Amino acid sequence: MNNFNWDSGFLVDFDTTTGVSKTAKTTQRRLSQMKGMFYDEKHTDKILEKEDPVIYEFYELGCPERAGDLAFGTTILYPGKAGNEYYMTKGHFHTKIDTAEVYYILDGEGYMVMENLKGDTVEMPMAKGQVVYVPRGYSHRAVNIGDKPLILFFTFAADAGHDYGTIETKGYHKIVVEKDGKAAIIDSPRWKEAEV
Ligand code: MN
Repeated sequence: MNNFNWDSGFLVDFDTTTGVSKTAKTTQRRLSQMKGMFYDEKHTDKILEKEDPVIYEFYELGCPERAGDLAFGTTILYPGKAGNEYYMTKGHFHTKIDTAEVYYILDGEGYMVMENLKGDTVEMPMAKGQVVYVPRGYSHRAVNIGDKPLILFFTFAADAGHDYGTIETKGYHKIVVEKDGKAAIIDSPRWKEAEV
């Protein structure tokens, strides 16, 4: 869907507190679509017996994937946990791996969890009013550690593409969990098992 004229310019509305747009299209990601990504699969299944919560949604504008254009939109990541692991986005590499991305935090607090193909990891704390620069070569996933939605505005090169598969198979080396009432970065149990 493409309601915007990428060749002559356009205006679009985004609420700076909620991230909601009246004109852009929204896509929702529910817990059932993220099965296997949270390490506590038992608790994930338990939640799913009762409900299938929306973990996050994003507003996108159907930007043509061509060099020179800029894709942009908002992500609304809801608060919550599966087991003790905070709700997060799936995370992805860009298909053109050496393309960066900017995220401006409109509201809430969390982490941008990043990892490159060599296994270098960065967990960047982020809060309202800050901008996270996701460097070239790093996959990226947002994590909401607060008790209200984490609202992000993003922009990236329109022809960067999304690669979910690479990071979906084993997940990130680092995950963000609640420990003693606070957010803590720990080694993913899944990677630990693989190394034993
Ligand atoms: Mn991205």
